[in-house]
Amino acid sequence: MMQTKILFFLLFVSVFLLGGEEGQYVQARKGMVETIEREVGSTSGYLGRERLKQSVIDAMGKVPRHRFVPQKRRKYAYENRPLPIGHGQTISQPYIVAVMTDLLDINASSRVLEVGTGSGYQAAILAEIAKEVYTIEVIKELAATAEKTLRTLGYKNIRTRIGDGYYGWEAYAPYDAIIVTAASGSIPPPLLKQLKPGGRMIIPVGGFSRVQHLILVRKDLNGSITTRQILPVRFVPLTGKH
Ligand code: SAM
Repeated sequence: MMQTKILFFLLFVSVFLLGGEEGQYVQARKGMVETIEREVGSTSGYLGRERLKQSVIDAMGKVPRHRFVPQKRRKYAYENRPLPIGHGQTISQPYIVAVMTDLLDINASSRVLEVGTGSGYQAAILAEIAKEVYTIEVIKELAATAEKTLRTLGYKNIRTRIGDGYYGWEAYAPYDAIIVTAASGSIPPPLLKQLKPGGRMIIPVGGFSRVQHLILVRKDLNGSITTRQILPVRFVPLTGKH
């Protein structure tokens, strides 16, 4: 009887402590979203929009960013900055994740390709809004950790793959939207080919030690390409043999 009471007590304490920890993250996440909205307002001249779509705000307010960063960095998870995730790579700044997602103009019927899975956080944000997300990562250890995190969190509409994302993922093309989360010297032709007419791509373009710009690419219904420079940014390079 005494043992049962102790067991119940321990269960109560652990549920209380875990709930308390998750509760703290909920508040911190709310603060992060407010910071992003303020920053979007002050950079609206670059972005060509005053505020983020509600679907993007909701996704940023829902996805637990702390689950995508290494344990020792969780206390910083809701600060508006990139964080190291190992192997010389980073989880992107929340403001940048929100802006890139917003510029893709995706909805519940969209099929999206992501190049550079990293932690899996951006894929989760996309999966909250889109129908299907396909994501490619070149570093197999990162791909494995991201796949595990996304599975644990219950995402069923994300497919992950290890490989060189420069070449896209032909098997599921064409895509309504493509997002590249590493900087490329130019826009990879295979990705342009795998973009649906009427589709959008967002990609940082520029060398690693030079200025990079976030570029919004549009393919019109006749297949013609137009580009618009959005913001100066700083991303890790898109690696590979190309
Ligand atoms: N989207 C990620 C997230 O939410 O955590 C952040 C991505 S991090 C800034 C860029 C990622 O692109 C790194 O994980 C890197 O290994 C990956 N990467 C670089 N070159 C790549 C390539 N050719 N194909 C696929 N992934 C690549």
